[in-house]
Amino acid sequence: MQILTGSCHCGNIGVSFATDLPSADMVPRACQCSFCRLHSSAAVSDPAGHITFTVHEPEHLNRYTFGLGSTEFLICQTCGVYAGAFMPDGENAYANVMAGILDARAEISSPPIPVHRAQENLEERRTRRRAMWTPATLVQESR
Ligand SMILES: [Zn+2]
Repeated sequence: MQILTGSCHCGNIGVSFATDLPSADMVPRACQCSFCRLHSSAAVSDPAGHITFTVHEPEHLNRYTFGLGSTEFLICQTCGVYAGAFMPDGENAYANVMAGILDARAEISSPPIPVHRAQENLEERRTRRRAMWTPATLVQESR
């Protein structure tokens, strides 16, 4: 399995995305929620892969939530970059990652597909993410 790496602009949030999907075949999703539109979100995920976010200075991580509150939008407080969405799920978690923070971003050339999820209730949303997002780990390094 290949490992796609990346980070926010200042390097506080690092990502390691293990996936067998070739970067050139990835089709980012442009969620049309009020938050993602403001960020021109283009998310990639792989249910068969794994995403690890490693935060070097957790005190400078904003785990923003809104709406149904099921998801943490991981934003670096130092450089302002939105790194990805993270959904804790009992002992597990699922995430996607913004294509733009991956070092391989230039290879992900497909235009993002707009997706509308506003009609989902919380359980529908969690069920879809378990199926479509990527099993994930959030590592917050201590000083
Ligand atoms: Zn940063």
